[in-house]
Amino acid sequence: MAFINENYLKLQAGYLFPEIGRRVEAFAKTHPSTGKRIIRCGIGDVTEPLPAAAIAAMHRAVDELGRRETFRGYPPPTGYEFLRNAIVKTDFADFGLKIEADEIFVSDGSKGDCGAILDILGAPGSNRIGITDPVYPVYVDTNVMAGHTGPVNNAGAYEGLTYLPCTAENGFVPAVPKEKLEVVYLCYPNNPTGAMINRDQLTAWVKYALANDAIILYDVAYQAYIKDPGKDLPRSIYEFDGARRCAVEFHSFSKDGGFTGVRCGYTVVPKELNGTTRGGEKMPLHGLWTRRWSTKSNGVSYPVQRAAEALYSPEGRKQIKGLIDHYMGNAKILREGCQSMGLEVYGGVNAPYVWVACPDGLSSWVMFDRMLEQANVVITPGSGFGSQGEGYFRISAFNSRENVEEVVQRLKALTLQPA
Ligand SMILES: *Cc1c(COP(=O)(O)O)cnc(C)c1O
Repeated sequence: MAFINENYLKLQAGYLFPEIGRRVEAFAKTHPSTGKRIIRCGIGDVTEPLPAAAIAAMHRAVDELGRRETFRGYPPPTGYEFLRNAIVKTDFADFGLKIEADEIFVSDGSKGDCGAILDILGAPGSNRIGITDPVYPVYVDTNVMAGHTGPVNNAGAYEGLTYLPCTAENGFVPAVPKEKLEVVYLCYPNNPTGAMINRDQLTAWVKYALANDAIILYDVAYQAYIKDPGKDLPRSIYEFDGARRCAVEFHSFSKDGGFTGVRCGYTVVPKELNGTTRGGEKMPLHGLWTRRWSTKSNGVSYPVQRAAEALYSPEGRKQIKGLIDHYMGNAKILREGCQSMGLEVYGGVNAPYVWVACPDGLSSWVMFDRMLEQANVVITPGSGFGSQGEGYFRISAFNSRENVEEVVQRLKALTLQPA
């Protein structure tokens, strides 16, 4: 019989979102006639339709594929020049950042890239890996699958990972650790806490990485949500001296262009970024990542890449801004709604997530049940993102305006008594 990858058995049994689904379903079954519909503010998926510029570009691209003269077969595995050039110009050159087109690797979304990057990093035991707590669970689970961890303990922490606590005290941005790490995952604007990192804090991380020969895996899926980019808040890690030597940056079109269903993103791997062999020989990651892509993928579909390109057109930019304004308008309503209830509220300013402290010392799951039972609103329990998330819940601003307004009305009617 074929042996399996037993690392999968270490994963916590599909915990967070399946458990939410189970509780919501059980509630709906036992309360068929509460009269109120259940409003979901849980999963971080967009709700608004695609920007018109992307739709038109996709239609045109499909028509091209339908004619012999304009038909195209396999795309270049790391992305068409037209898209890579648009990315370089609009996301980097226009901000004075030096990234070249062949340092852009177009993919079918950045969740995949966050996991795939482990293909080109060292075998289990070679890298000490740092992740924030709370965290986007993909970073943890892909390390578990790759065998980079031991089993999980009672507190939900995996042996072998270094957890960097993100708390209200540190503004949900971890200080650089005293110990040496080789790989660190950072995500700002942050999912789940909605927090943003400032220039000084990211400078410290880049310095740490350079001093320790570490690599920062920097996830900017929510870059478009940064309110005043450029001043105190960094849009890209490449705004910092030396970052080309110590950072990979993950981008996604999911949360700005609404591409969660279309599937497209890209990863930046600068040519100066080196890792090392066990023999101590420096090796550029760029070559390994190029090889990985050309071996394991035939690239992203042509209509999708044309749609992504269209997001960089003037109309596309304007339409994205409309989407962001919509979601951030929701975030403001949710923030202020929770604040007016006297709750301690974080996030929702530079990210479409509002991170709320549960009142009266309630646990995340008790709060989840109360919100579901009393308000018929589904939130995400903070504890599902890590032990430091206990005592918090996340509300997503990805929703219709109508739903968000209704959620706030219902929350205000809640009586939140101590457990
Ligand atoms: C949504 C999200 C992504 C993007 O994933 P895609 O695969 O591009 O849809 C990446 N990182 C974080 C933290 C996210 O929340």
